[in-house]
Amino acid sequence: MLTDTHCHLHLRQFDLDRDEVVARAQANGVTKIIEVGIDLASDKEATALAARYPQVYAAVGVHPHEAEKATQDRVGGVA
Ligand SMILES: [Zn+2]
Repeated sequence: MLTDTHCHLHLRQFDLDRDEVVARAQANGVTKIIEVGIDLASDKEATALAARYPQVYAAVGVHPHEAEKATQDRVGGVA
């Protein structure tokens, strides 16, 4: 049993073969995939992927590379 702890399956490069990528991972023993959002749009895509594939789980929030763009409403800060 393996867990891929950091994927970006929402990226356009997987649009043509996303189902096959997930199926190949499962066929090779990857039973859980953590799909990581990097911004609000990809967080929504990550949660949609988690709803679509039972082995995919969404990690949402602010990616460290995007931290300087985060606003208080995005991170749930106290005003
Ligand atoms: Zn990443």
